This record gives sequence, C-alpha cells and structure tokens, in this order.
Amino acid sequence: MSDVTCARGVELLMDYLEGVLSAGVMESIDRHVGGCPRCLAFIASYRETPALLRDATAEEIPGDTKRRLDGFVRSLSERPRES
Ligand SMILES: [Zn+2]
Repeated sequence: MSDVTCARGVELLMDYLEGVLSAGVMESIDRHVGGCPRCLAFIASYRETPALLRDATAEEIPGDTKRRLDGFVRSLSERPRES
C-alpha cells in the first residue's frame, strides 16, 4: 500500500471514517487527504451528516447526500488528476 488516489480514497473513505482500516492504510489516506481539497471537502460534508441520520437511512441515501456524492464522484472521473 503506497499512495492513495482520489478514486481509491472514495472507496475507502467510509471505512476510513468508521476507523476500521489498518493503521498503515489510515496513514496513507491521511497523507492524501491532507493535500487534497476535494477529499477533504468530502470528509467534511460526510461528518456534517448526523450519525443518527446515517443509521436510519443505511439503505436509502438522502437525496441531498446522494447528489453531493454523485457530484463528487463525477468530478473525479471528469478530471482524474492526482494532487
Ligand atoms: Zn483526493
């Protein structure tokens, strides 16, 4: 496990935020997110979502959250750049 890319970061962010990843992976993501405004913004918006809401809608993502997630993923695929 070396550098984390945005695409891989998105895959891992949920686990990252739950704190269930190994220390080495967490460290790699930390390093990427520290220099990546997009991943940082994604994490910030995720953390703004109340945990209660996330639990209650585990199978159904709220429209607003889904829109932001879609937009984020789209921005990654439109401009696949490493920072
Ligand atoms: Zn990123």
